[in-house]
Amino acid sequence: MSITFSKTVKTKKDHSCFTCCETIPKGTLTEFSWGNDGVYWWRTYICDPCLLYISENDLLEDGNWLDEGCVDEHRRWAAS
Ligand SMILES: [Zn+2]
Repeated sequence: MSITFSKTVKTKKDHSCFTCCETIPKGTLTEFSWGNDGVYWWRTYICDPCLLYISENDLLEDGNWLDEGCVDEHRRWAAS
């Protein structure tokens, strides 16, 4: 079972974006998500450009699931 929550937060320190692996600078409004994949609890930050990319490219079509670096990979794939 997957339980996912998310909310927009202002980051209090630098974080790495889960889906593009780029740095989200401190003080940026960012989507913070957390959930349970059945085994592990996970929590992650996703930057605004990634959220837009994810919705524009339907990267959530396989249920509500995102792999680490998936936006970065999809961009490379789309550019090749
Ligand atoms: Zn990102």
